[in-house]
Amino acid sequence: MKLDVNMLRYLSKEDFRVLTAVEMGMRNHEIVPCELVERIASLKHGGTYKVLKNLLKHKLLHHDSSKYDGFRLTYLGYDFLAIKTLVNRGVFASVGRQIGVGKESDIFEVATEDGTVMAMKLHRLGRVSFRAVKSKRDYLKHRSSFSWLYLSRLAALKEFAFMKALEEHGFPVPNAVDCNRHCVIMSLVQGYPFVQVKQLQNPEVVFETIIGLVVRLAEHGLIHCDFNEFNIMIDDDERVTMIDFPQMVSVSHHNAQMYFDRDVECVFKFFRKRFNMSFQECTDDIDGTEVDTDASGRPCFSSIAKDAVFLDKELAASGFTKKDQEVVEKFIEGGLEKDASSDDEGTGDGAHISEEDASSDDEDSDGATHISVLNEANIKGVDSLHLLDQGQT
Ligand code: ADP
Ligand code: MG
Repeated sequence: MKLDVNMLRYLSKEDFRVLTAVEMGMRNHEIVPCELVERIASLKHGGTYKVLKNLLKHKLLHHDSSKYDGFRLTYLGYDFLAIKTLVNRGVFASVGRQIGVGKESDIFEVATEDGTVMAMKLHRLGRVSFRAVKSKRDYLKHRSSFSWLYLSRLAALKEFAFMKALEEHGFPVPNAVDCNRHCVIMSLVQGYPFVQVKQLQNPEVVFETIIGLVVRLAEHGLIHCDFNEFNIMIDDDERVTMIDFPQMVSVSHHNAQMYFDRDVECVFKFFRKRFNMSFQECTDDIDGTEVDTDASGRPCFSSIAKDAVFLDKELAASGFTKKDQEVVEKFIEGGLEKDASSDDEGTGDGAHISEEDASSDDEDSDGATHISVLNEANIKGVDSLHLLDQGQT
């Protein structure tokens, strides 16, 4: 995917006002009727139509006149709203190249004014699985657009909340910097996805560290649920960082045992195949602590989870609620049968654009947001960036 942020510079305050109006309208409408956009944006002199045309030209909106004349946001339109908000907050100042493309996300480099490079993850829940789910059940009926917006935003909030909570408890995760809409900003991991690593100096040590993480997560009441060589990063000193948290579940989940065993199995399988490891020598001493294991050396879920200390308070601190967790869990398991609108923020047709959404503090009088395309010249001290190129896209 191409993310041409140069365009951001040429979008005016009015453009963003109308884009925000469409976003608000989408809380209740798949396609937001023109009159509603006009009413929410309330531009002087009825300038909304000209602006809509401009936004359409830049593919930030999609026009639909099948039932009535209206608009919806495109992914790009939603990306721009999040990026603009974060740039205005001073979180970063430029967007660089894409460093990762997952099933349900796009990851880009971003950099601050002083050249610190971070990672920006744009969640795209619904890109793959949502379509599959929709075709099977048509469960969201007319609300499909609202739902990708809503679910992507929830997934981002969840990822941010978990990353922050895990970081506070000393887990090796990226530093969670900020979050807006479907976008999470985190520190850039200096390393490579484990799947790209062909050789290790100390495979046993790395193995124990990684299995130790699965165990320690469960001790904190959590299961990663996608704990594999794609979501583990490893650097030149064989230090491990785990990433990708939107699918995590609690050890009290009804399928917890299965998810836990599956995460463990992924690790065992990868080390067996890639590093030719056998596990006879595996002890019950994982990562320096005693852990109950079965005869094959695999950690035993029930004995670990029974004393789990939950991170609910830390998660709630980021604004991620138990209810949010239920919604994401149901969706990720493909079992969301009820309309997600019950958790709607309830912004009706009388919506107004908030301070931050309409903010122009950091803007020129023309309303343009200062953002530049990140180039090699403003990347400092991150030589290994290029390594991420291999096998990414
Ligand atoms: P998905 O949920 O789509 O799988 P991930 O969070 O796993 O997304 O990210 C996809 C890829 O992007 C990763 O495999 C990794 O290569 C890269 N990536 C993600 N986060 C970071 C980060 N903080 N630093 C460096 N690379 C990252
Ligand atoms: Mg991943």
